[in-house]
Amino acid sequence: MGPKLFKIAFLLLVGIFSILFASPPSFAALITDVRSWSAPDQVRVVLDLTEPVQYESFSQQTPSQLRLEIRGATLFTKKREVEVDDPFLSKVNLTDVGPGKVRLVIHQKRPLRANILLLKPYLDKPHRLVIDLIDIAKEKIEQEERIKQKEIRPKGMKTVVIDPGHGGEDPGAIGPRRTMEKDVVLKIGQKLIHILNQNKEMKAFLTRKGDYFIPLEERGRIAREYGADLFISLHADGSFNPSARGSSIYCLSLSGATDEAAKILADKENMSNLLGGAVLRPASLAKDPNLNQILLDLMQNNSMKESFRFAELFLEETKGFNHLKYPTYRQANFIVLKAPDIPCVLVETAFITNKEDERLLNQSEFQEKMAKTLYTTINKFF
Ligand SMILES: [Zn+2]
Repeated sequence: MGPKLFKIAFLLLVGIFSILFASPPSFAALITDVRSWSAPDQVRVVLDLTEPVQYESFSQQTPSQLRLEIRGATLFTKKREVEVDDPFLSKVNLTDVGPGKVRLVIHQKRPLRANILLLKPYLDKPHRLVIDLIDIAKEKIEQEERIKQKEIRPKGMKTVVIDPGHGGEDPGAIGPRRTMEKDVVLKIGQKLIHILNQNKEMKAFLTRKGDYFIPLEERGRIAREYGADLFISLHADGSFNPSARGSSIYCLSLSGATDEAAKILADKENMSNLLGGAVLRPASLAKDPNLNQILLDLMQNNSMKESFRFAELFLEETKGFNHLKYPTYRQANFIVLKAPDIPCVLVETAFITNKEDERLLNQSEFQEKMAKTLYTTINKFF
């Protein structure tokens, strides 16, 4: 067989195989759950699936709604109607409309821009169909509001941005009693903001005010829009070793992790984007990696030195009230700490996977103590 003939035969074979094994719309996928997460400028609707599905979307103006005709799926949840209490939606309906056909209707209170994506299974998460509905006008107002805060700031006033880690689809680490990292860090964050804003020389903001997910890159952008002088990302550690406990603090490293444990932790925290289902906007990917590198490095160098200073102060303050996991701060490549012009640290408040630490993290007194320790550190830092 000549090479040309061989090629044709090969292509023919590939063709036959792809007909045989291409997945025709199967009825295999089960829709096992439906839920929603509301953020200040958008709402996310999530369907859990056992297999990927095919869908077509139709939007309608009056009444404002988005309809998805899903093929290759069967409802396997009792939830057929989800009431949503937010400024964007009233309810979400799921209906079986024939063999392997399901209709999803999202009833909107106002026009929203839809962004639909299928997520592959990741860790304990199944296939998911995610529908983000973004209120463009509200998104712009939120952003302008942050920039305005920067502009009206009196001279000498310090801006602190507190970032409660994880949220929404990404619960973070989970304790033996099912305490979720995303919940306890939000509580500590809210307590800290409250204390900080009683000081007339400071203004503090949260990146996330509720149970919804914000991509890691966007958290830094929010801090920059506020003109932050300091950025603190709040977390609770998790380990396979149930006896691991205590607080620790991390700074960014450009050259590599302090050690393997720091690298593993950074990988785990960076996973947040995959779990939360982050959609990276093209602008954040289009940056030329070489162009501004020198300038960025210079800025980063300075803010990193400031981060180290903060971290040392934090450890000094914390050892008075809580067990320290490590006596010094540690470094690794955390995406959330990559704001080159702002000193930023990541605090692991305690180990949620440790029974005793989990109990503490749930305690209002401990949350308050952690917030106060952070406040004292921030005060000394400035
Ligand atoms: Zn975390």
